[in-house]
Formats: sequence, C-alpha cells, structure tokens
Amino acid sequence: MKPKVIITKKIPYQVEMFIKEHCQYEMWQDTGEMPDKLLLNKVSDADGLMGPHIRVTEELLDKAPKLKIISNIAVGYDNFDIELMKKRKIMGTHTPEVLDESVADLAFGLILSTARKIGYLDAYTKKGNWDMLDKPEFLGQDVYNKTLGIIGLGRIGSKVAKRAALGFDMQVLYYNRSRKKDVEENLGIKYASMEELLKESDYVLLMLPLTKETEKMFGEKEFALMKDTGFFINVSRGKIVDEKALINALKTKAIAGAGLDVYEDEPIQKDNPLLKMSNVVTLPHIGSATEKTRFDMAMKAAENLVAAVKGKRPENLVPELRAQF
Ligand code: NAP
Repeated sequence: MKPKVIITKKIPYQVEMFIKEHCQYEMWQDTGEMPDKLLLNKVSDADGLMGPHIRVTEELLDKAPKLKIISNIAVGYDNFDIELMKKRKIMGTHTPEVLDESVADLAFGLILSTARKIGYLDAYTKKGNWDMLDKPEFLGQDVYNKTLGIIGLGRIGSKVAKRAALGFDMQVLYYNRSRKKDVEENLGIKYASMEELLKESDYVLLMLPLTKETEKMFGEKEFALMKDTGFFINVSRGKIVDEKALINALKTKAIAGAGLDVYEDEPIQKDNPLLKMSNVVTLPHIGSATEKTRFDMAMKAAENLVAAVKGKRPENLVPELRAQF
C-alpha cells in the first residue's frame, strides 16, 4: 500500500500528480490552508505532512503515531519544534535556494517603493490626481549610491547585497553570526557591528531566521540607533521585531519609513496602526510569491516528502536535524 500524506494547501497540478504517483493523499481544496483543528483529526494514519507552515506541537505528534516527515513549503521553519522533533525522530525539511532570487527581488522592491513612495503615489494617481508641482510629500530619497545595511547575510541576504552593490552602486554593510569573506571579496561589501551598521545605513534590511536568539532582537534600542532619515525593511519574520517599538519609532520620526512583508501577528490585525501610515509600505507576506518560484517550492517540498515516506533521506533536512537521519 502507498504511504498516506496530507497536504494542507492546494499545490500546482503537476506537483499533485507527482505525489499521486507515490502516495495516497488528501489535499486541502479551499483557499488558504487547512485549519489546525481539522488537520489534527486527519493525521492518525498519516506518514507525512506537507504545507507552508504546519505548527508542530506535542498534540499533533501524539495524534500521528506513523508520522515520518513534515515537509515545509517554505525556507523558514520557525513552525518546527526542533527539540520535540529530535525526540520523536520526525524529519523536518524546507525549501532553500529555489526562492532566493524572488525574495531578493521583493526585498529590493520594498526598498525602492519606500524610498520613492511608489505605493502612496500610485494611490494618489489612481484617484485621478495629477500635480506636477514639487509637493514636498511627493519627494522621495535616492537608493542609488546610498548605504544598505543587511542584518542576516545568508542565501537571500547575499542576493540582495548583489543587487545593491552591483546594480545600484550602493555601499553595503552586513551583520551576521559568521563572517562571509567570500561574499565580501566578490561584491566589495563590508562586515560591521550591529551598532555601526545601524548608525551608518540609509536602509536597514532584516533577513534573519526567527529563532529563540533572534525573537524580538530588534527593538527600541536598535531603532534609536538608526538615522532619522533611515528606512527599515523587513522581509524575514515579524516576530524578530518588537512591533510596538517600530510603530513608536515611526510615530516619533526616529526613522523615516518602513517597508514590511511580515508582521508580529499574521494575518495582520485590521486595527494595526502600520496600516494607516503613509510612510509604511505593507505587503501580505508574499516574498516568494511568483508563479515559477511557488511551483519550484512545491515541487521541492514534494520531493522531500516522497523521499522520506519511502524510507530515503530527503535532500533538504533542516540543519538542526541533519545529524539524526
Ligand atoms: P539563511 O541562508 O539561513 O540565512 C540566514 C542568515 O542569518 C545566516 O547567514 C545566519 O548566519 C544568520 N543568522 C542566524 N541567526 C543569527 C543570529 N542570531 N545573529 C546573527 N546572524 C544570524 O536563510 P535565508 O534562506 O536567507 O532566509 C532567511 C529568512 O527569511 C528565513 O528564515 C525566513 O524566515 C525568511 N523568509 C521570508 C520570506 C517571505 O516571504 N517574506 C521568504 C523566504 C524567507 P550563519 O551564516 O552564521 O548561519
């Protein structure tokens, strides 16, 4: 009998057919994702689960005694409880590399749209307005030749650095757990302490994973160190930032603006003050959302899933679980 898997989000047909070849499957057919409660009721005979961010809890694993793998359709895996998965010998995989360029494009899009007020001016023009005067509120900031500080120079951060250094002649500073001498040499970018980076950058991009160490790592102190003409861009995870401190920094003009793809609570609450600020560009967590990249992510996740349920070692085990399998 084929192994049984549950897919908590609708995936492209070709990927579904690949899974069908190897597994019995159940897939959420609606928009969005299968609700947690429903998933809990379905996992008793599941060998594998696949979805964008299935929350790993003791309750879920208790109800799924046959489970071998949780395959994320995402590169971030802050939904995994690594210690619990180690203890229960559950594989956890993610989808690195296939999304790097798309997320880097989006991060750069946020830099450009906050700097040049693209969202604000788009809404202005669509209302039928047209005013050639140099209204102060139309004037933005240059991106070309300014300083970009990247916090978290991993796969995606390095791709943004390349765009900035080679395409926009920006000075690029980065802060990271480990030095990346090869990237420094290839792109002519510089390592800096967090404090130096915050003080010197015109744009600060957060590109870290959400972990116990990085949760709420960016708060009042960090915003106070930024230039009051500086822009804060976050394409990583909202919980790395103290969102109240961000809102306060924007209100008090300690920083000039923000470009956000992620938030402390998602979906964002309708009364979140960030939604009312004209110097903040808000996106609904769509960093990797291009047709090709979403297809590639789903296929990578499916390959990881199928490998694991057939007793093989999947290619993209998350680093913390690699030693165990
Ligand atoms: P990655 O290659 O693992 O890069 C993360 C970088 O952060 C690494 O260079 C790592 O340093 C560094 N780092 C980790 N913990 C740190 C700490 N405590 N202090 C300083 N540096 C630290 O990951 P990635 O593929 O670039 O993705 C980054 C994150 O972006 C993901 O985890 C995900 O949450 C987010 N993301 C969001 C979207 C979206 O749609 N908005 C899409 C994709 C990804 P080392 O090199 O020393 O390990």
